[in-house]
Parts: sequence; structure tokens; C-alpha cells
Amino acid sequence: MLQDDRPKVSIALISGFILILCCAAFTFVLSHEQRVAEGWVRHTSDVEDHLSRAQVYTARAEIQRRGFLLTRDPHALQMLGAMRLAVVPELDRLLIAVADNRPQEGRARALRAAILGKLDEMQGSIDLETGGDHDGAVGIVASAQSRAATAHLLDLIDRMHANEEDLLARRQARADHLQSGGRYALVLCALLIVAFALLVAHDRRRRLLALADANLKLEADIAERKLLERELDQARRRAEALGDAKSSFLAQMSHEIRTPMNGVIGFTKLILDGELNDSQRRHAELIADSGRAMMRLLNDILDLSKIEAGHLRVLSEPFELAHAIRASAKLMAPAVQQKGLRFDCIVAPDVPPMMIGDGLRLRQILINLIGNAVKFTSEGSISVRATVEGAMVHVEVADTGIGIVLERQAAIFQRFVQADDGITPKYGGTGLGLAISMQLATLMGGTLTVSSEPGRGSRFLLAVPLRLPEVAPEAAPLAEPGRIALPEHRAVHILVAEDHDVNQMLIRELLERRGHRIDVVDDGEAAVAAVAASVAAHTPYDLVLMDMQMPVMDGIEATRRIRAAGHDPATLPIIALTANAYADDIAACLSAGMQAHLSKPLDDADLDGAIRRWARRGDAEAKPTGAARFSARLQERYGERRTELIDLITTLSLAERVTDEEVTSLAHQLHKFLGSAEMFGDAGLAAEARSLEAALATGARADRTEALRRTADIMAQSA
Ligand code: ADP
Repeated sequence: MLQDDRPKVSIALISGFILILCCAAFTFVLSHEQRVAEGWVRHTSDVEDHLSRAQVYTARAEIQRRGFLLTRDPHALQMLGAMRLAVVPELDRLLIAVADNRPQEGRARALRAAILGKLDEMQGSIDLETGGDHDGAVGIVASAQSRAATAHLLDLIDRMHANEEDLLARRQARADHLQSGGRYALVLCALLIVAFALLVAHDRRRRLLALADANLKLEADIAERKLLERELDQARRRAEALGDAKSSFLAQMSHEIRTPMNGVIGFTKLILDGELNDSQRRHAELIADSGRAMMRLLNDILDLSKIEAGHLRVLSEPFELAHAIRASAKLMAPAVQQKGLRFDCIVAPDVPPMMIGDGLRLRQILINLIGNAVKFTSEGSISVRATVEGAMVHVEVADTGIGIVLERQAAIFQRFVQADDGITPKYGGTGLGLAISMQLATLMGGTLTVSSEPGRGSRFLLAVPLRLPEVAPEAAPLAEPGRIALPEHRAVHILVAEDHDVNQMLIRELLERRGHRIDVVDDGEAAVAAVAASVAAHTPYDLVLMDMQMPVMDGIEATRRIRAAGHDPATLPIIALTANAYADDIAACLSAGMQAHLSKPLDDADLDGAIRRWARRGDAEAKPTGAARFSARLQERYGERRTELIDLITTLSLAERVTDEEVTSLAHQLHKFLGSAEMFGDAGLAAEARSLEAALATGARADRTEALRRTADIMAQSA
């Protein structure tokens, strides 16, 4: 509004200013004219003055002539001479003064001639008187000619006076007129200036008022805005409180339902283990299936409500990407095989082994996609392909199943939505899996899309941003890269420090089968003692394989002590055995005095390579035994440990409260289990155990429970 007014005001001010200027110019012109008119008035007066003076001088000369004729006074003659001398210049001045007025100039010339004639006549009579002809002199004065000349002279003077008076009257009137006009102009000018000043003051006041008005409005707006913000904040808080109440209600409810469901599933399992006839068994299996379906549903609802309440966080930590993809596929492989479908899992070579992200959630999405592919495909194949496209990791899950019509392809990502009404009766499901997967993909900064053709199959594409860890851990030497490797099949003396019985047996079998001599100890302290004893007995070790996590004393501390006791890397290399080969772990190994690390599960080739590269010397030729991959005893022991672990996870996932000690103990078991699971072909389970271990280590209490629940669920799903 203010801005609209501004130009108008300026135009008014400028117009007022121009008007004042015009008025001042007009006043100036008027006053100039007035001065000119007054000049003319003065000029007329001057003419009158010259005329009067010429008249007076002439009259005085006449008086002096007559005085001389009567008294013969020589003074009169002198005075006559003086008048004669004075009148001529006066007449000349008169002529100049009336030069601008032709008729008056004519009269002035005539007057000059008449006066000069009169003066000559005077001189003539004087001359007669001085010559003694008094009568002749008086006769000239009294002559008719002299009287006529005098009358003519007076007439000329009268006419000139009349003319000048007329001029004076007119010029005076004009000067008066101009003077009053000038006065009016001056007054007008003054009035205009006052009006202009008033206008400026008014405009200024109006602007100030408008500004004050705008300020008031602004203040009102700010107050209103603050009020709105406060209301919005309150509404947000209420919504958050409602959301919190909803998710805690759902969490509570799901917990309340899960506990009795645990009883249902547990006792059904017991019934199934017992003696049943066929129909009883079928019914009991139906109860167990329904129980598991209900558990999955509860988990999905819980996930969804958490995502919607904004409480679900995706982790940003290093995880084994390629491994997670393969493990998800392996986990679902039995279900695929059961349906007689072909199953391919291809991870492109450029897919990095490690990336930063949430491995658990990535697997959750993949397991859901593969699970759907299995569910909706009765013949043909299912494939999982992972590639790197620019800065994204793409994982495509394709099947040759029933497909989805185009119009429903967007809808299936909404919660509780399925492709059509016939899905639930025929295939079951709740329509939550893809909604959760989509939300998780979005939380990870990625996308989940589908392309499908009814009757030909579907292709789901998960794309997540590829973020690489700063240091990519790999089973590489940490020091002395130039060390000379042993020839193949050299038997060496190795100390293994490892507390987990299955891992102990596993490494022992692997190494002994290659002909090496092995001593195994349970903890770091025993390892330090064993190294000292072997040197004392002159049977020193060629290599130590040191687990990182052990009771009593861990691998890092044990290495430090061995190095402190004077066993240097040149005579006794120490190789770490790590389940989580993170950059920090590797750095800790290096600074403790280790030379390399091997990732668990141990790879045969890696193990051979490390021994050849690092073992100080070889004894006699090693004699590899052709034994089967693992002994029956070892496999049996592994099976027992596996069942124990799954039972423990299931129990803890259903427990009302999990103590910190239980979590620590589980984390320890998981860590140990990881080392061997893949060697026994349990990659899927190993991956689950790995991410559960990570979640237990980093997560808050709620996240731990969540991870336990999710892992128990996935393990149940794969069973
Ligand atoms: P649910 O499988 O429990 O119904 P989802 O959210 O995982 O829930 O899937 C939603 C719907 O999308 C499914 O009901 C199905 O109609 C459709 N769908 C998902 N995956 C496939 C697939 N691979 N082939 C055909 N239809 C699919």
C-alpha cells in the first residue's frame, strides 16, 4: 500500500515545486517591468524639469532685459548674460531627453529655435539701449512681433508640458499597476510556498501514519503467527503423544499376544514330537503354522507402526553386503527347492564386500521379496541379481510367477493391499510386507519398484545408495609384505588360541588334515604360557593363530604379552582370527603386534596362504590326509551348538525382559558361532547371527529386543 502511494506523492510534490518556480519567475518579470515603468516615470519628470528650467531661464532673461531698459543697471546685463549661457545647455538636454518621442522632439526643436530667437531679440533691444536709442529698444519690446514670438514660445511650452503630463499620468498608472501585480504575485508565491510546506508536512505525516499502521499490522501478523506456531506445536505434540501411545500400545499388545502364542507354538511342537495319528498330526501342524503366521503378522504391524511413528532408525555401520545378499538367498533356498523351482543368485564382481548401511533391514527387504517370489511362483525360476549402477547398489528379485496387472502395481506398496481379492484365500498374506519394504528402502535413501506382466512373472528392483567404508577390511598382511612364503605342503608347528569348542575342533581338523602339528589352548593367558613353554622345551611354534575374543585374557592382550616377553614377529608371527573384520579391529591387531588377520569363517585357501606366507619355517614335508571334509563328531557338535543358539535366541526374543548379562552371553555365543557356521554351509544363519551380534553391540535396549525378535522370526521362517 505504501509503495502504491509513493509515486503519487512525489508527483504532487514535484508539481507544487514547479508551480512555485513559475510563480517566482512571474514575480521576477513583474518586478522588472515595474522597475522599467518607474524608469519611464522618472524620465518624464526629467523632461519636465529640463522644460521648466528652460522656461524659467528664458523668463529671467526677459526680466533682466526689461530691468536694464528701465534702470540701465549693468548687473541686469550680467544676469541676462548668465541666463543666456544657462538656457542653451538646458535646451540641448531637453532635446536629448525627448529623442524617443518624435512629436515632442519636434516641439523641443521649435522651442529651442523660439527661445534662441527671443534671446536674439533681447540682445537687439539691449544693443539699441546701450547705443542711446531708448525708444527703439522699448519699441522692440512692445512690438507686435515680439508679443507674437512670446505667445508662440509659451504655446510650445504649454503643449510640451501637456504632452509630458499626459505621458507621466499614463506611465505612473502603468507603474502602479505593475507594482500591485507584483505584490499579488509575491503574496501568491508566499501562499504557494506555505501550501507546499503544508503538503510536504501532510505527506510526511501520512507516510508516518502508514508506517505505524504497517508496523501494527506486522506486529499483529507476528503475534498471529506465533499463536499459530504454538497451536501447531501443541497439535504436533498431541499427534506425537498419540503416535507414541499407539506404538507403545501396539508394542504392548504384540508382546501380550506373543507370550501366550509362544505357549501355543511350544506346546504344539511338543505334541508334534509325540505319538499322533495322521489327522491329529495335520491338525497340530495347522496350529503351528497359524501360530507362526500370527507371529509374523504381529511383527509386521509392530514394524509398520514404528516406521509411521518415526521411531524406526536404520543403522549406518559397515556390513558385508555381498554376503548379506547371498545369505538372504541361501536362507530362502530350501523353500525354493521345496517347490521345485530353479534358483539363481548372482552377485556381480563389482559389488563391494563391505558397505555402510543397515544389513539387517536390507536382508529383511530381500527375504520379503524372495519370500513373495516363492509364494507366487509355481513353476519356472526365481533369480536374485546384484549389481552396482553408478552410486547405487541394485538388487533385482525376478520370478516367473503369476505377475501383477499394471493398474495394481502401485497399490501393492500400500499397507494391507494385495493385487486382487483372490490372493488371501489362495496364497494367504496380509499385504504388509511390501509396504514395510518400501518404507525401509526409503529410510535407507533408496527405492523399491516393480515391473510385472500377468502370467509371465514379476521383477522387483531394490536400489540403495552405495556407501563404502573408509578402510575396506580384507584378509591381507598387516606388515612385512616382502616375507618369503613357505613352499607348499610344509608341516609347521602351530598354536591355536580359541575358546569355542566347535571352532577348536574345526581348526584342529582343518590343520591336522594338512599335516601340521597343532596345540590348542582355551584363552590368551594359556597362549602366553604355551609360547613360553615351547621355547623352553626347544620346540618353538612357527605360528600362532589367535582368537580376538576369549575369556580370562583376550587375543590383543595375549599378543602384547608375547611381544613384551621378547618373541618378535620374525621368529613368531601371530595371525588374528576375527569374526568382524572392521578397520578398528585390524588397527588394534596391528598395534598389539600381530602380522595379519584371517576372517572367520575360515577359508581353506586363505588359511593355507597365511601359513605359507607367515610360518617361520617348515619341518618335514606335510602329509595331507584325504579325510572327509569334517568328521562326524565335529558335525554332531556343530549341530548341538546350532540348536542351542537358536533356542537361546527364541527364548530371549520371547522373554519379558532381557538382562545385560544375557545379552553379553548371547553376543559371545553368536561371535563364536559365526566362526564355524559358514564352514558347515550355514551361510544364511551365519549372516543372521552376524547382524544380531552387531545390533546387540550397538543398539539401544529397544533395538536389541527388536533385533532378537526379528532374528528369531527369520530363523523360524527358514526352518
Ligand atoms: P502379502 O504377500 O503378505 O500379501 P506384500 O505386501 O508382500 O503382502 O505383497 C502385497 C501384494 O503384492 C501380494 O498380496 C501380491 O498380490 C502382490 N505381490 C507381491 N509380490 C508378488 C510377486 N512376486 N508376484 C506376484 N504378486 C506379488
